Amino acid sequence: MSGEKLRAFHRRSIEDREGFWAEQAALVDWQRPWDAVLDYSRPPFARWFAGGLTNLCHNAVDRHLAARRHQPALVFVSTETGAEKSYTYGELHAEVNRVAAMMQSLGVTRGDRVLVYMPMIPEAAFAMLACARIGAIHSVVFGGFAAHSLATRIDDARPKLVVSADAGMRAGKVVPYKHLLDEAIDLCAAKPAHVLLFDRGLDPGFPRCAPRDVDWQTLGARHAGAAVPVEWLESNEPSYILYTSGTTGRPKGVQRDTGGYAVALAASMRHIYCGAAGDTMFTTSDIGWVVGHSYIVYGPLLAGMTTIFYEGTPIRPDPGIWWSLVERHGVNVMFSAPTAIRVLKKQDPAFVTRHDLSSLRHLFLAGEPLDEPTHRWISDLLGKPVIDHYWQTETGWPMLTAMPGVEPTPVKFGSPAFPAYGYDLRLLRESDASEAGADEKAVVAVVPPLPPGCLSTVWGDDERFVKTYFSMFRDRQVYSSFDWGIRDAEGYHTILGRTDDVINVAGHRLGTREIEEAVQAHAAVAEVAVVGVADALKGQMPLAFAVLKNPAVAATPQARAALEKEVMATVDGQLGAIGRPARVHFVTLLPKTRSGKLLRRSIQALAEGRDPGDLTTLEDPAALDQIRAATAAPRA
Ligand code: AMP
Repeated sequence: MSGEKLRAFHRRSIEDREGFWAEQAALVDWQRPWDAVLDYSRPPFARWFAGGLTNLCHNAVDRHLAARRHQPALVFVSTETGAEKSYTYGELHAEVNRVAAMMQSLGVTRGDRVLVYMPMIPEAAFAMLACARIGAIHSVVFGGFAAHSLATRIDDARPKLVVSADAGMRAGKVVPYKHLLDEAIDLCAAKPAHVLLFDRGLDPGFPRCAPRDVDWQTLGARHAGAAVPVEWLESNEPSYILYTSGTTGRPKGVQRDTGGYAVALAASMRHIYCGAAGDTMFTTSDIGWVVGHSYIVYGPLLAGMTTIFYEGTPIRPDPGIWWSLVERHGVNVMFSAPTAIRVLKKQDPAFVTRHDLSSLRHLFLAGEPLDEPTHRWISDLLGKPVIDHYWQTETGWPMLTAMPGVEPTPVKFGSPAFPAYGYDLRLLRESDASEAGADEKAVVAVVPPLPPGCLSTVWGDDERFVKTYFSMFRDRQVYSSFDWGIRDAEGYHTILGRTDDVINVAGHRLGTREIEEAVQAHAAVAEVAVVGVADALKGQMPLAFAVLKNPAVAATPQARAALEKEVMATVDGQLGAIGRPARVHFVTLLPKTRSGKLLRRSIQALAEGRDPGDLTTLEDPAALDQIRAATAAPRA
């Protein structure tokens, strides 16, 4: 029966964890072998390959030099500036060594943090790999985040160095990174010693602040030809921190180890993505997200592949751009997000079909729910397996997926298939953590230890790690994904949305608390509730319901419209445009329980035109009438 081999593979990964992962660990180089495959003496903290010494940069770059010095490692394509440049493994090695030397000259050493706030330019990847080379811990912050969000992350990570650029470009418009960074550093308690700036010439006259700011090109010229030996790290030393949104306003620094991450990614390239040395991978994400870390930078390079590094949108100069890159560069593995496919679905299919896509073996999609019609549409159009797979910033690599490298299995539209090897994934009833049956909605959980590659802790806060992720159930210490899921009788899973207040806009995860704090930064706002509502294109969109300190300031439709714009601009400035609510409705009352807890679920249900559910605890029903009226009213 189909799937037998896959089931046996998964079973072994759980029943003989150490044997299984010891085998996978042979996919990467170790300078010194580990003492123990797994040290699980302090649950739920899992230490993989304890005592082993390795280095991510060595495995992603140096070890390929012998066989593929002249093979392209990274192909940069910018449809924003028209730049195109290819770097062989030999050239990548030279660039990374040079940046490593530049960082060392600025005093960065093992264990120091380096915050990377950069557009999608190759120098961003050089910076990440240079950190890995010298044992510094990078923390990449997505370029769409604005000053306040950036400042929060700088204060938490306390970087010695920030690496940035004058500007980025999005849809033809210049995004002034350096201005935003200066604003953020002004807000910070912990100021970085240096800012290393790559000048793209997009923002002439951008502010420079001596002696803190250092020019990349000038310093780089001094370090041309540098050779910096790799720093061998114990497998559990951190490689990076990546901040992600949760239910509080304070983002969590997901901390990743070194050896476990290298092994997990190398194994996933083989068993899940079917990407081998010499192949080409195109992941259409951004280095600011986990997908960018794992499958633009580290995964494909660990496997000796060529990675396409793309700056631009999916529809410029036309919606065929990605597919033309697949044709031109002979892409074998592609990874994108459902929203991008829904955007494409509105266009002429010829934008896809006129290209020769014969090199492409699979299209992988993740980051948000993939609806069945979109899954079917893109599969039919490509005539290739389109694999929906599910994972999180925390896990670093897929939790639910098909694994065509182990055994191809039939695709079920709308389902991210089966638990990946290494994950003892269960669907547990919220009430008592008991196992749910087939077709029963339950919480997606993982019985620890988490496999290699998953977060090792929350940066600087072990207690928060345990409290946040392992304390959903009173009597059972399991990892909660905070997603609802369901499994059918054939073992295929479907994700049904979050159990918490996190929302997902076009695959970008945002905490409603974070958006609320940004809205509240507007002086006229007394109180606000933000909820995510269903959106046909982006999956979800944030909607804000704000109570004003003085309702008279929004007495007329014109005043309301003007204030709504102002509030949106405040969110852009604080959090970034990615968190901007689709609408800001002004109300005089928010629905709360008698104990003062916001009834977000009810607000969300009403905004989506659904039944608001159990309202017995509601303090004042008039609040719900206002939500109903606000969302029913046509746009002012
Ligand atoms: P992030 O950490 O930003 O990658 O967001 C992770 C969250 O995105 C998950 O907890 C899910 O809510 C959602 N997600 C990711 N992949 C999928 C998928 N294939 N299907 C449904 N939801 C997904």
